[in-house]
Amino acid sequence: MSAIPGHDAAATAGENYTEARARFLSSARAAGAEISSIDHPLRGPAGQALATDLAWLGPANAQAVLLIASGAHGVEGHCGSMVQTAWLRAASRDRLPDGVAVALLHAINPFGFAWTRRTDHENIDINRNWVDFARPLPVNAAYLAHEGLVRPEHWDGPVRAAFHAVLEDAASGTDGRAMIAALTSGQHDRPDGLFFGGRAASWSRAMLEDLLPRAFRHCRQLAIIDIHSGLGPFGRGERMIPAGAGPAARVRAGRWYGLGVTLVGGEDSVSAAVTGDWMSGAARLLPEVAVTPVAMEFGTRPVVQVLEALVGDAWLWRDRPGRADHAGDVMAATRDAFFPADPVWQGMILGQALAMIGQALEGLSHDLSENIE
Ligand SMILES: [Zn+2]
Repeated sequence: MSAIPGHDAAATAGENYTEARARFLSSARAAGAEISSIDHPLRGPAGQALATDLAWLGPANAQAVLLIASGAHGVEGHCGSMVQTAWLRAASRDRLPDGVAVALLHAINPFGFAWTRRTDHENIDINRNWVDFARPLPVNAAYLAHEGLVRPEHWDGPVRAAFHAVLEDAASGTDGRAMIAALTSGQHDRPDGLFFGGRAASWSRAMLEDLLPRAFRHCRQLAIIDIHSGLGPFGRGERMIPAGAGPAARVRAGRWYGLGVTLVGGEDSVSAAVTGDWMSGAARLLPEVAVTPVAMEFGTRPVVQVLEALVGDAWLWRDRPGRADHAGDVMAATRDAFFPADPVWQGMILGQALAMIGQALEGLSHDLSENIE
């Protein structure tokens, strides 16, 4: 079925990283984009090449740029890539506002995307990795206290069912929200655990630290929409400003997107406060640019089901060769937790994301013509 013009939901549902990348690149070429690629040193599960791709539409020296990013959390790239490709197909019909360019960054973490992992080849969560490694790393004592819950010895049928019940119980208890926050906010003590922020800059961070100043230093205004999935009610998008964005960015986001913008970790956000997100880092890299970073987080499955998939993934990768028999099951659960093969879900995501991209372009264009910063 194809509910969205130019978007074939059925084809997208089974798509792997390489197919998603090929669709993105061919749509970018058809829209007349300038494309550059940064190769990743490792390979995908079928030996395929991995890369982060940048497609640029509009003037190279545009004063106002919208950056649409996907795949910082690997497997979530299925959702982000779908949005990018759908927008590119629509963009080939519409003209960009004068003076505004659009940059699409595909697969910030291509290894995780290809291997159906949220993290990278070092198990690093790219959105917990932008901390100052020259200073003592923050200790997440609450994570360590709950660690037993998310570190099972085995991961077969009965163990998994029992584990699910325990996690369900814990999450629905009075301390459920605090427990989920403890598990998801980021930690640097367990390299093979969940939401590991790393002990040095990841491949993706080093890549962005090189790319972002080169590509965006000339801008006056840079709007970033970073697409995520896995948190929140099924199909519902939440627009979140990272904690590191300054007050001016919050005012701009409110002006462009309306009141429904939350602060990561705020009372009304589905996300816990996190340390080391990449967009706050991007704003620090571009001190002369008015950066307006917003993450768009799309809900998928209930939080326990998503956590369970991540627990299975971490378990699998603690001994990837020895546990290869379970890889298919774990990867299927992970994929479903972050990209449900459901055309209604995909349609909900596309509708909300494309509307938001339109708002960003209007906002940038308005601010440019009114000389607002
Ligand atoms: Zn994410």
